[in-house]
Amino acid sequence: MSPQLLSIVIPCYNEEEVITLTHSRLLEVSETVGQRLDLSVEIVYIDDGSSDSTLSLLQGLADNTNGRGAGARQTKVRVVCLSRNFGHQSAMAAGLFHAQGDYVVTIDADLQDPPELILEMVEKAQKGGFDVVHGRRLQREGESAFKKVTAFLFYRVLRTLSSGKSLTDVGDFRLLSRRVTNAVNALPERSLYLRGLLPELGFPQSFVLYDRPERAAGETKYTLRKMVALALEGLTAVSTAPLRLGLSLGFVTAAVSLIYLFWILFRELTDPNFAVRGWPSLMVTVLFLGAIQLFSIGVLGEYIGQIHKQVRNRPRFFVDANRSRGLSGENNS
Ligand code: UDP
Ligand code: MG
Repeated sequence: MSPQLLSIVIPCYNEEEVITLTHSRLLEVSETVGQRLDLSVEIVYIDDGSSDSTLSLLQGLADNTNGRGAGARQTKVRVVCLSRNFGHQSAMAAGLFHAQGDYVVTIDADLQDPPELILEMVEKAQKGGFDVVHGRRLQREGESAFKKVTAFLFYRVLRTLSSGKSLTDVGDFRLLSRRVTNAVNALPERSLYLRGLLPELGFPQSFVLYDRPERAAGETKYTLRKMVALALEGLTAVSTAPLRLGLSLGFVTAAVSLIYLFWILFRELTDPNFAVRGWPSLMVTVLFLGAIQLFSIGVLGEYIGQIHKQVRNRPRFFVDANRSRGLSGENNS
């Protein structure tokens, strides 16, 4: 029986400063995994429309590594080049689609997720019969206080809104079995928010814990805009609770308005000068109600936007086959 295959999927966007180092760490890990667990390894890089030299570096790494002669358990390198920048989640979807392994691990390119942990993940999956092994972060080093606080709050809000189904403090460092990878590839969702989706899929799941170090080199590729977009996609994907918020606010405002109405009537009847005054309270009321209405419309808009995306049903990504290496099968989703 030929050994099982482990795919390591790495989305890369402008990672020229770190990618060579990452590759050598991954090769070391592949070696260890091969020896200790009798697995072959393929490394699948997704170039997410980088504008620096990431793609040519990846092509070089692939050509070098694949050209090293055919050992029995030679690590293979594929490069999937996307036609433009589609974002981290879509790049990951492209990776899951092209990975052929019995186990598929997704990992960031910047070494914030220690590749050595892959061994532990595979062992856990094999011995415990788990289909998903999430990497759960204990500490985050070298990230801004803003990022730590917003991430902490976001995961907790999401967990509350999804009635405990969304996972806290897990990122996109995880192992999936072949059957879960197939299930994810078959999902019709246009925007994949895997952290929220995987618990929904069921299947036995487990965790490995780790402290998240700083980026090995380079800057974060998650701009504030991308973070907000991911947060909104995550929120709309796991919960419809925000839609109810408008309704709840409406009820509360109606109740308060009714009490206020009686009070105004009372004052009007008892104080002849009353109606002339009251500009501040009028302004506050108008602005407050305006804000609530705009907020509720905004919430609706987010969900409609997601429906729109789904209805358009465009592929999650396009692959530029000419600039890719070692592709097989179809070229886009
Ligand atoms: N990434 C990507 N496309 C993007 C942004 C990021 O493929 O549009 C990749 C990036 O190269 C890295 C991973 O997603 O491998 C996580 O990004 P980053 O480390 O910048 O995020 P952070 O750790 O700061 O949240
Ligand atoms: Mg990072």
